[in-house]
Amino acid sequence: MVKSEITIDSDPHQDFEDLVTSHFSTTIDTPLRADAFELDDDAKIALIETHFSGIMHALGMDLTDDSLKDTPKRVAKMYVKEIFSGLNPANKPSPTLFKNQFSYNQMLVEKNISVFSNCEHHFVPIVGKAHVAYISNGSVIGLSKLNRIVRYCSQRPQIQERLTIHVAQLIKEALGTEDVAVIIDAHHHCVSSRGIRDTNSTTITAEYSGRFLDADTKNEFLKHIG
Ligand SMILES: [Zn+2]
Repeated sequence: MVKSEITIDSDPHQDFEDLVTSHFSTTIDTPLRADAFELDDDAKIALIETHFSGIMHALGMDLTDDSLKDTPKRVAKMYVKEIFSGLNPANKPSPTLFKNQFSYNQMLVEKNISVFSNCEHHFVPIVGKAHVAYISNGSVIGLSKLNRIVRYCSQRPQIQERLTIHVAQLIKEALGTEDVAVIIDAHHHCVSSRGIRDTNSTTITAEYSGRFLDADTKNEFLKHIG
């Protein structure tokens, strides 16, 4: 029996088939080396600053210019402390659970959670919305924790398919239930600002597991998110 499934409703990535075959069945984690966190954040920032200076220099930019001189440091800090901070498991949000005092055992849906990630193939933004749902088995999670889980999984170089599965996985772990659904609808800047330059398309990925594999439950969720 299939425990979970993923559906893709549109496909702006030309090499999507390759993505599925190369990543889908391997791991939900971004491929990282064993020594990924041997350097501390400050050492990483210093190293990235040096390398980013090299990129700007190679592009012919004048790094003595007042407007440009601090860019390598700024980019390095942004990478390590903000947009790629979710690579480090130390930054994983610890979910705060509450006992389900009201015996609420229906579906809980949180929709339109902001997604800001970056495509791991081009290092340009993926921007969209996540809609998540679960059916409580006795615990409920603080609503802001759902946002934090989405943000943590987004703050790393990503592909949308893995991001969707990763969010579902962490919600399942936090709540100790398989009854979880996640839909992400996102715009990929590597599709709009370069390449095919399509500004209208979005990509929808969905991960359903547990009772959400049941058509009625899935349809109720889809009805809620409109
Ligand atoms: Zn891309």
